Amino acid sequence: MNFNEILGNNKIKQDLQEIIDNNTISHSYMFVGIDGIGKKLIAKEFARKILCLNKQNQNCATCDSCIKFNSGNNPDFLEIFPDGNSIKIAQMREMQEKVYQKPIVSDKKVFIIDQVEKMTEEAQNSLLKTLEEPPEYMVIILITSNENKLLNTVKSRCIRINFTGLSKQDITKYAGAHQINIASQNLLEMCGGSIGKLEKINENIDDYNSLELATNKLIDGKLKNVVEEMNCFNILYESKEIIQDLLDYMTVLIYLHISKEKDYRQKFLNTIKLIEETKQRLNSNTNYDMSIDNLLFKIWEEFNENNSRS
Ligand SMILES: [Zn+2]
Repeated sequence: MNFNEILGNNKIKQDLQEIIDNNTISHSYMFVGIDGIGKKLIAKEFARKILCLNKQNQNCATCDSCIKFNSGNNPDFLEIFPDGNSIKIAQMREMQEKVYQKPIVSDKKVFIIDQVEKMTEEAQNSLLKTLEEPPEYMVIILITSNENKLLNTVKSRCIRINFTGLSKQDITKYAGAHQINIASQNLLEMCGGSIGKLEKINENIDDYNSLELATNKLIDGKLKNVVEEMNCFNILYESKEIIQDLLDYMTVLIYLHISKEKDYRQKFLNTIKLIEETKQRLNSNTNYDMSIDNLLFKIWEEFNENNSRS
């Protein structure tokens, strides 16, 4: 996949191309940004270009290195990702062994470590040693969506590149090209420029749509009683796997209503607070159905029985 086939982060792609063209490649980079915005795609394409034997052709696919790279067995390239929940010291030792073997096809070797935030501290300290004494041919690209988990000593050794979410236009373009049909502008907003999130939402599009319908009924005061409310919000009981995202979406919808209608009534603000509390409660393993019951009862009270003070 060439840079021009990857959406978004144009300035970064341009800068990386310049690094290749001017042959000013450093030993270590850190790609930082939320999930699903192309960090890994861009890192892999950067790696292919670094290793390519035919520097005149930006989109080369025919040199020995590119052929091997594209078929996933270039010996000068290694990708490391979490083994289970973490990247372990054993994986670092394995990598180090390869770091100190000279390149075979190209004059460089590239290592991508994905989700670096999942490295154990031991593994990070081991990585640090490699970053401190890199062989001249070595390039390491760290990828992370949560740099807070990284040792400062590791971060300070890398050239930091900040990735941003895709524009709404790019997201819409991607959706169009991949037969993703998300009609709701609110949902497109909810993606925050992340294609990963867009795809996740698309997988559960019916759930989001029915939640949007229910929330709008609530906001418009169209629910007659608490039983109807619970039926209407049935999706909250059914979609345990994505409940945190669904509750986030409910909050987004209420905020949108407040900002559009200039309707700052206390009941909306209280409801947002109730949703936030429920999210936390669900995180701490309380009874699932009871937490949702509780949320819907309290929302009902906010919207009806406490009308006098709202
Ligand atoms: Zn090539």
